[in-house]
Amino acid sequence: MSDKVYSRACPLCDTEAKFVYRDHENRRLYLCPNNECGKFEISLTAERKLVFHSEFMKEVNEANKQKLILEIFYQDGLQASCKKDKSLT
Ligand SMILES: [Zn+2]
Repeated sequence: MSDKVYSRACPLCDTEAKFVYRDHENRRLYLCPNNECGKFEISLTAERKLVFHSEFMKEVNEANKQKLILEIFYQDGLQASCKKDKSLT
């Protein structure tokens, strides 16, 4: 895969993190150098709603431990669900 890698402040911890777009640029897959965040996916809408909140930090952490990706999205409020990390293959 040759996804273009961008750089931006992590929406969970504000550390400069790398991300690639997913789902036709509707979502961003972040790779945060902060071990607390690590790898997670967030929709652009959710990211706009999530103004520097660490509420998903614990969930992201747990997902990473299980080699899953936490996907944060917005649907009648901020929500998150885990999915298999396909990008590890
Ligand atoms: Zn982070």
